[in-house]
Amino acid sequence: MSDWEDEAEEPSAGKQRPRAPASTPWMPPQSHKQRSYREEGGDQPPTRERAWEPRGQREGDRGGFRRPEERSWSSRELPRQPETVTGGGWSRDFRRQEANRELASAPLCFRLDSSVVGTVIGRGGSKIRELEESSGSRIKITKGDYDSEVKIFGSSEQQDKAKTMIDDLLERYDERPETDTRFGYKEIRPSRSADMSTTVTAPVKRGINWASLRENREKYEIMKWADLPPMEKNFYKEASNIASMSQDEVTRWRKDNNNIICDDLKEGQKRPIPNPIRNFRDAFDHFPEIMSTIKKVGFDRPTPIQSQAWPIVLQGIDLIGIAQTGTGKTLAYLLPGFIHLDLQPLPKNERLGPGMLVLAPTRELALQVKAECSKYTYKGFKSICIYGGGDRKGQINVVTKGVDIVIATPGRLNDLQMNNFINLKSITYLVLDEADRMLDMGFEPQIMKILIDIRPDRQTIMTSATWPDGVRRLAKSYLKDPLMVYVGTLDLAAVNTVEQRVFIIPEEEKRAFTLHFIDSLKPKDKVLIFVGKKIIVDDLASDFSLQGIAVQSLHGNREQCDREQALDDFKKGIVRILVATDLASRGLDVHDITHVFNFDFPRNIEEYVHRIGRTGRAGRTGESVTLVTRKDWKVASELISILERANQEVPEELFEMAERYKHFKIKKDSERDMIPRQGRWRDNP
Ligand code: AMP
Repeated sequence: MSDWEDEAEEPSAGKQRPRAPASTPWMPPQSHKQRSYREEGGDQPPTRERAWEPRGQREGDRGGFRRPEERSWSSRELPRQPETVTGGGWSRDFRRQEANRELASAPLCFRLDSSVVGTVIGRGGSKIRELEESSGSRIKITKGDYDSEVKIFGSSEQQDKAKTMIDDLLERYDERPETDTRFGYKEIRPSRSADMSTTVTAPVKRGINWASLRENREKYEIMKWADLPPMEKNFYKEASNIASMSQDEVTRWRKDNNNIICDDLKEGQKRPIPNPIRNFRDAFDHFPEIMSTIKKVGFDRPTPIQSQAWPIVLQGIDLIGIAQTGTGKTLAYLLPGFIHLDLQPLPKNERLGPGMLVLAPTRELALQVKAECSKYTYKGFKSICIYGGGDRKGQINVVTKGVDIVIATPGRLNDLQMNNFINLKSITYLVLDEADRMLDMGFEPQIMKILIDIRPDRQTIMTSATWPDGVRRLAKSYLKDPLMVYVGTLDLAAVNTVEQRVFIIPEEEKRAFTLHFIDSLKPKDKVLIFVGKKIIVDDLASDFSLQGIAVQSLHGNREQCDREQALDDFKKGIVRILVATDLASRGLDVHDITHVFNFDFPRNIEEYVHRIGRTGRAGRTGESVTLVTRKDWKVASELISILERANQEVPEELFEMAERYKHFKIKKDSERDMIPRQGRWRDNP
């Protein structure tokens, strides 16, 4: 789990009185001299020089102004922007010269798979600058949904040089043992671009024989997947009462169940979306063991995601489920997975490896899925949880003896796969759980390597709480004609069972505020306190212990056994306070958490939603308390919209903060547009 506080943009000097609603029992104990950010200049847009000043050099600089992309800019010894440059003649001349230079040769254009650009060339990142600097060309990448257009500007010689370098990069990428087999490269216009007025030919040196590579790859793929055992995917028998639902009934059901929205991502003609099921019997009437397990645990009815996902997944269709944690998404894929495993034509004792694989971002989530798997156990299927930090030897032992279901974090699984301890070719049912989180944690390369070994005609289910570009790309690459089910809206749905309170407070008063909050808790309350840095987790937890408050702590640097102990103590109520990093923001399923306390605001608004979703679970209501300091100003407007959508009170100062940040951004962006970048503009003039 990474620490993130360094990224704060807003100066942290200065104080602000927390404006808690009058009714709050958690007013900080001491009073303060009230000063607004504006008066102090603290919340004001910093000047560029101030903003780029190295951290720790200014008096009172605690949060810092570090902005990585700008720092790396300045390291290129940019020509300093003269005072007079804004809109002046110098600027226009410069632009004209630049435009002329680019027109000297029409751009060399081609398309690359976006994921390849992301992985190999690093759109807009330091690799591009390296290429530009070495070739003397200018490279512009325009990202499309799946393909990116690459344009190389400059003289023919510069274009060729850049192209050869890109070829070289791609060749090295393609030669890796874990080659991405989807890899595509289409040259579209080695001539002139439409907006160029001169005819230019840019001779292209082709470094690689792409056609032959592609042909070889196809042959290899055919060989690799020859002799696979047959596979069945459709086990759904639609109940007559579901088949006869009218369109109005279907629409009403979806609307009443957290506004379920479905979409067919298959290109071309769209398929009808299966009607949602309304009770467990509608989905599992033909599977008595599943019905009796459900009866045993005493669930009343399917959750919204289950209601729409089961008829899709049981038919063998790939699914993307956009749903928050706590919505019952694990059972949405586990129960159909059990049936899928059980009804494969190849008898169980002849299978060469596991049939189901669930990839999860964290050990905690993996262990939780494993716990669900064991709880709803079906036909004696054996499952194992494979995660980094766990006993590798023990995991290898179990895997080699034979398991049916593997639940794994990508890093450790990739390790066992590379060392031939596990055969993934037998997997026919694959789940990518919390895909957005796996990407956030940088697991994409491991996922790519793992999936290379899994048969392409498998069934794939992907869950994600959000639907950003990275997840779309993953879905496009690894799912086949999926249907998509959103529960709530596509953007972040605020958890509406949680009362959210936000307090604007100076950094140095957070601890006193937190202690006061803890003092006000009732004996039955259970609190999850989120902190940004691992070191502060330890610090805060030991502070509380010294004051005689029983707490546990959870973060990525703790030994696995300590992490498990901490969770167990918290679950069982041996301690009622858990101080944790965002390691606990997803997947943690403790039903009786009454409060989530955000000591530090999370890195982004998605994480905020995940955090507060740890309370208000399983039909209960909960409360969240969030401390916001001036360094969190960039998330103010997103936080406002989450609060407003959940009909929560928004502190006036949060609006002011959002407004100030908006002005700061406008000013910063306009300054940035005017700054020449080694004789070029960052964006096309
Ligand atoms: P998940 O979103 O998978 O983390 O699930 C959160 C919790 O909801 C788990 O403890 C599940 O056992 C529970 N759960 C799953 N399905 C249902 C259901 N239909 N009704 C009530 N609780 C459920």
